[in-house]
Amino acid sequence: PNLSMISFLFRKLPSNAHSPALIQAETGQTLTFSDLKTQVFNFSKTLLDFNISKNDVVLIISPNSLLFPVAIFAVVAVGAIATTANPLCTAAEISKQVKDSNPKLIITTPQLHDKIKHLNLPCIMLATSKIPIYSSTTSSNSTWYYSHSDTFSSDIALPPVMQTDVAAILYSSGTTGTSKGVVLTHRNFIASALMMTSDQESYGDSRNVFLCFLPMFHIFGLSALLYAQLQRGNTVVVMARHEMKKMLSAVEKYKVTHLWVVPPVVVELAKHQEMVKEYDISSVREILSGAAPLGKETAEECARIFPDAVVYQGYGMTETGGPISFGNVRTDTPYSGSTGVLAPGVEAQIVNLGTMKPLPPLRRGEIWVRGLMVMQGYFNNQKATMETIDEQGWLHTGDIGYFDEKGRLYVVDRVKELIKCNGYQVAPAELEELLLTHPEIKDAAVIGLADAEVGEVPIAYVVRSSTTSLVEEEVKTFIAEQVAAYKRLRRVIFTDSIPKSASGKILRKELAQRFLSKL
Ligand code: ATP
Ligand code: MG
Repeated sequence: PNLSMISFLFRKLPSNAHSPALIQAETGQTLTFSDLKTQVFNFSKTLLDFNISKNDVVLIISPNSLLFPVAIFAVVAVGAIATTANPLCTAAEISKQVKDSNPKLIITTPQLHDKIKHLNLPCIMLATSKIPIYSSTTSSNSTWYYSHSDTFSSDIALPPVMQTDVAAILYSSGTTGTSKGVVLTHRNFIASALMMTSDQESYGDSRNVFLCFLPMFHIFGLSALLYAQLQRGNTVVVMARHEMKKMLSAVEKYKVTHLWVVPPVVVELAKHQEMVKEYDISSVREILSGAAPLGKETAEECARIFPDAVVYQGYGMTETGGPISFGNVRTDTPYSGSTGVLAPGVEAQIVNLGTMKPLPPLRRGEIWVRGLMVMQGYFNNQKATMETIDEQGWLHTGDIGYFDEKGRLYVVDRVKELIKCNGYQVAPAELEELLLTHPEIKDAAVIGLADAEVGEVPIAYVVRSSTTSLVEEEVKTFIAEQVAAYKRLRRVIFTDSIPKSASGKILRKELAQRFLSKL
């Protein structure tokens, strides 16, 4: 018996053979679970023909599509290691990642070919139209095209795969430095998937419909695919990118029940209530936000415009293959603003950064986690691995947080991003949450600025709504009235947009550079 992610993924077959697994939002093209299995096995055969074998690394660079999951599952099905890159990366950024992960083959789309051709690696193109497999000898540098094929090649002998085998090297978002290759095994993925769903009665037996516009190259989008959904026999509606109107019309058309989002999407929804009203969104039951802090008020406002839905928050990182904690919708009402209780099987403690001793509830410290979902380490980077996972198996997350008396976890900010001011620590996320509650502020980011007198001081970049004449002093006063004196904003700079990563995180590094270059 094969205990890989793949047998886990298809464990409900044949009973769910004819229910839809994946639907392309724009075209309605559908793969049932039996289609998906056929596609995965056919693609596996293509990979074997390319001499891909166990532990070879295969890089996938593609926007979300029906073929993205097919490709990634095929790679792991043959015991190879999938690694992914953001399709918006430049050729130089891709080169850097390729140098780190050393793939033997690249799977991409014709549109992205220009970015990878200088690498001179064998390449499979994911074609969206019906080009038969193996048809292409058009390109000299061994470029092949792959598209859906309806015939099933039953004669494939897949190599045996163990749960302890490495399934993927996923890169962290690079928010605090250069992104690192996170090594995750089949067991890590299966454990995370079970942790994510075992407690969630609300997923029930009825088929849920998830909308996935989160990029599948990132752990959040990938777990959206696998964890809560496909392995449970649910349907995933796939969208190439997020766009409000398209998202709302997909919700209406496919009667989407579950939306997984990042905070900027929730903010956008909360601030565009008129637009939301044009669509029938009554099917939505749950909106799960993750990857970055979500303000309580924003969450509540969003919940008000989705009449039958609950909005809640999850917390996780690439290094844990997904969830550390998530809100239990049934018990966390009214919404506490927390990132919920620990996923089952996750151990955590809050540790004082000075003494390294565990702290009681309500005290802030670094969040340490342990469990079956924790990565094996950073790829080819033993130093970073040893700095992150200690001898007892605790993963030091680099995040500051605390538990309340009910065991709910609150993520305050990252250790690296706390603003150290006169011996106090200011969490940018806390000030950003307050700024977003201002009716004339569309978006905001807070960074620390070196200051000769007190060390660092908080300043804010603010995006105003188009109809306002809000001025700097008003914003400063708005914050000053609500916080301790040391947290007051020293400057407010109005801007058109806040730079964010694909997973919705504020790129504070970029803002700091912007500020320095303006001096
Ligand atoms: P890098 O590690 O390369 O600097 P990154 O930490 O942003 O980048 P990811 O693994 O994508 O890379 O993100 C994990 C981090 O995202 C967490 O460590 C945490 O800081 C943040 N995060 C995730 N979910 C939440 C949440 N609900 N609230 C606050 N922060 C969150
Ligand atoms: Mg990180």
